[in-house]
Amino acid sequence: MDNAATTRVLPEVFKEIKLYLTEEFWNPSSTYESAGKTARKIAEAREKIAGAIGAKGKEIYFTSGGSESDNWAIKGVADALRSKGDHIITTAIEHHAVLHTCEYLEQHGFEVTYLPVDKKGFIDIKELEAAIRPTTVLISVMFANNEIGTLEPVSEIGEIAHRHGILFHTDAVQAFGHMPINVSEMNIDLLSASAHKINGPKGVGFLYIRSGVKITNLIHGGAQEKGRRAGTTNTAGIIGFGKAAEIALSRMEQRKEYESSLRNRLIDRVLTEIPYTTLNGDTEKRLSNNANFCFKFVDGESLLILLDQKGICASSGSACASGSIDPSHVLLALGLSYETAHGSLRLTISEDTTEDDIDYVVDSLKESVERLRKVSPLYKKMMEE
Ligand SMILES: *Cc1c(COP(=O)(O)O)cnc(C)c1O
Repeated sequence: MDNAATTRVLPEVFKEIKLYLTEEFWNPSSTYESAGKTARKIAEAREKIAGAIGAKGKEIYFTSGGSESDNWAIKGVADALRSKGDHIITTAIEHHAVLHTCEYLEQHGFEVTYLPVDKKGFIDIKELEAAIRPTTVLISVMFANNEIGTLEPVSEIGEIAHRHGILFHTDAVQAFGHMPINVSEMNIDLLSASAHKINGPKGVGFLYIRSGVKITNLIHGGAQEKGRRAGTTNTAGIIGFGKAAEIALSRMEQRKEYESSLRNRLIDRVLTEIPYTTLNGDTEKRLSNNANFCFKFVDGESLLILLDQKGICASSGSACASGSIDPSHVLLALGLSYETAHGSLRLTISEDTTEDDIDYVVDSLKESVERLRKVSPLYKKMMEE
């Protein structure tokens, strides 16, 4: 139940990865024929991935993953356009790969506007337009939020960016392969994606850079990726990514339908059977595999431990697990109190999830939430009043 964190490599994908790590282990930059075959396979993966977002193969640059793509897009554009302006617009609910990159740039003299979001996690298009300055060079807004699943109005954002002559980057790590994306129709200039969120391997992703966009290199070295991203080509990773993208694309509609029906069952059961519970995010404009709840009078971290004991792998959506006591910046941006945000739980399903799994999770949740509330002084006090 934690497929937003990472996903299982599919057997068909693993088969390719294994082949290009062992028998076909060549460096595609070498000149002999064996290496040439691998190079052609890389070119095929590039075309497949480009086709998945309505781009051209030469606009796809492979990277080490979503984090590198986000770093490159933002630092690269900021640097390349510094003489034009030093202002960037993003949102308060971005992944840390975007947020921390923007904070880094602020320390180096750039100005960043972090747009607020409403209770469901949507930015306000009018606020976005009002935030634009003559010095704005980049707008970076995520396609789909990784914690609450909210889908931002990407097409409208792209339209506004282009009307003002500003570049538009979107972190589409949670959306790529899960829903239709077209960079031309949506006015997207730069787009980040990652293989391991779509049943591909970890450590590989891409940055789409529209032809003509000015961007400085992030990784300097050899001439790989048309001289824009150095480092010996991650052949197995890229070919595995290509395969995973091909599969994701071929099953997109049926998968969306399957996952959203399970997700709806999960949401409906939790909200009706567990009192003092709310759903974070929107019901319609939401990732088909995401559910995120707040359970009042419950500590999210304790809930995770109880669920883990029942064999359920989930995420609290708070940063507590990684050693911080602050709850998720996304939930706080929705306007939730620290207390409510601490009682959050993110459940993200996959094609492997069954209806029985959902029912087991809901039953386990009911039991665990009840158990934690029994020992909550706040809950006891409320019941007495
Ligand atoms: C997972 C994720 C990332 C980071 O991608 P990696 O490939 O793990 O570096 C960035 N943004 C979002 C929205 C994500 O979900």
